[in-house]
Amino acid sequence: MSEQIKVTLTEDELPRQWYNLNADFAKPMPPPVGMDGNPIGPEALAPVFPMNLIEQEMCTDRWVDIPEDILGYYKIWRPTPLYRARRLEKALGTPAKIYYKNEGVSPAGSHKPNTAVAQAWYNKQFGIKKLTTETGAGQWGSALSFACSLVGGIECKVFMVRISFDQKPFRKVMMRTWGGNCVPSPSMDTETGRKILAEDPDTPGSLGIAISEAIEECVQREDTRYALGSVLNHVMLHQSIIGLESQAQMKKIGASPDIVIGCAGGGSNFAGLAFPYANEKIHGADMRIIGTEPEACPTLTRAKYRYDSGDVAMMTPLLPMHSLGHTFVPPPLHAGGLRYHGMAPMVSHALNEGLIEAASIGQTECYEAAIQFARTEGFISAPETSHAIAQAIREAKQAKEEGKEKTILFNWSGHGLMDLKGYEAYLDGNLQDYPLPDELLEKSQHSMDGLPMP
Ligand SMILES: *Cc1c(COP(=O)(O)O)cnc(C)c1O
Repeated sequence: MSEQIKVTLTEDELPRQWYNLNADFAKPMPPPVGMDGNPIGPEALAPVFPMNLIEQEMCTDRWVDIPEDILGYYKIWRPTPLYRARRLEKALGTPAKIYYKNEGVSPAGSHKPNTAVAQAWYNKQFGIKKLTTETGAGQWGSALSFACSLVGGIECKVFMVRISFDQKPFRKVMMRTWGGNCVPSPSMDTETGRKILAEDPDTPGSLGIAISEAIEECVQREDTRYALGSVLNHVMLHQSIIGLESQAQMKKIGASPDIVIGCAGGGSNFAGLAFPYANEKIHGADMRIIGTEPEACPTLTRAKYRYDSGDVAMMTPLLPMHSLGHTFVPPPLHAGGLRYHGMAPMVSHALNEGLIEAASIGQTECYEAAIQFARTEGFISAPETSHAIAQAIREAKQAKEEGKEKTILFNWSGHGLMDLKGYEAYLDGNLQDYPLPDELLEKSQHSMDGLPMP
């Protein structure tokens, strides 16, 4: 028999509980607050989220049972395989062992359905008939459209950032195929959208604007709620299934990681893999956990930790997070899913607590890494995922220099078959880096002046 490449779990071995790092922080996270700086109660979120998810948002239980129905949905693509990147290791000539968790095998092609099906199911339980949401590159919009069609009886309306709507026509088709209704944002369907279009008809849009529109449309109807694909605590909870499976898989082969890596946009796929390992770290494991972001959108590495709004119209409560400022308009880098101005409060808190570290990488190094990965491992990665690969390669090269046999685990958050434009630009030699100038960072951070401090 040749060497083992992937480690699989049976459906019976699918974890039956999610893990909540909120139970294990040494210092509790600051609560979300209103504009007056006072903590908000569950009722303040009730027009936007169903009460069962609000309870999860505030939950500090360590383990949360995964409902049977959701386990049933998960079985369509879970447990996902864990791969050993032997061919990449060989190409790098590294003594490091490199493992990756393949979340690209879901129907939507990324980790996002892990929370999308959970959110659709909890909303349905609560009697909700329609979900609104925003999407950047379109991964979340397609994941939620898929989830709504799977769970059944819930309409899905997606506000898609205009520049992606124009550049990524096939994601729209995916959403429509699953029964979702996708419109470009800013749109004429909301007050916020009409106002922004009046001022700047050619705006490329932003995630912050799309969130404002989705919330505005949601609060107008009693049977409608809003769904967020990242950032919030309940999303981190649902994604923990990734790390829990990885732990079981590595245990099967008697391995354990020295370095755990994920790319970080809003923080959910990183947290999903990393938080069960952060628990091991809290209990004494010697491990580095690294969130990697674009140098064009350096939330963890350069932005202040502040209370900030999740959207440009300031319709969300204020969240304690590393934030570039809610008015931040990111450069047009290809990793659309990593262009958000904020970072999950749980990931931000984990950084402050020293449980994790952060790194930033330019997109040319990321594409170079993604192409090396495609030519060795075969899979074509999402542009977001390439940030995790580039970091893993950096660490593998470091291990080679030090002559150490490190074990590296990263989250392969999704495939890039719908995002080939960036590959084309790289292969044609037309890809640029956009390190964020200090003045721009400074300017967008000023949008948080006068807000309460955590
Ligand atoms: C959305 C997305 C991301 C970024 O979102 P997180 O919440 O930070 O995980 C990363 N990778 C893929 C493939 C995505 O679709």
